[in-house]
Amino acid sequence: MTDCIFCKIINGDFGTEFVYENEYAVVFKDINPKAEIHLLVVPRVHVESLNELDDEKILGKLMMTVKEVTKKEGIKSYRTVINTGKEAGQEVFHLHIHILAGKGVI
Ligand code: AMP
Ligand code: ZN
Repeated sequence: MTDCIFCKIINGDFGTEFVYENEYAVVFKDINPKAEIHLLVVPRVHVESLNELDDEKILGKLMMTVKEVTKKEGIKSYRTVINTGKEAGQEVFHLHIHILAGKGVI
């Protein structure tokens, strides 16, 4: 999607460094971290939110990506969050999983 910031990041438009990537997803640091470690796992395909998701495979691939990147980064303990909808705090309408770890995780 042309006006989606995460699609642009995936496309390399901002030169964002990927902490990890695979066939299905990219992982990069949140620009406004809410904890010592704050990563975003973002599917390459544009899906607005969990409400619009119709392919269960995507969620499985995303969760496996969480496992892969945390293992690679040596993050043993972490919290995962998916915000769905504006009232729940979703700001970017391209599905993503937050990984929060280290100091400041609540
Ligand atoms: P959410 O509120 O669940 O939609 O989360 C969106 C997250 O994307 C927020 O934590 C933002 O800080 C983060 N974010 C927005 N723009 C960028 C960007 N250009 N690079 C990295 N993270 C971003
Ligand atoms: Zn998008």
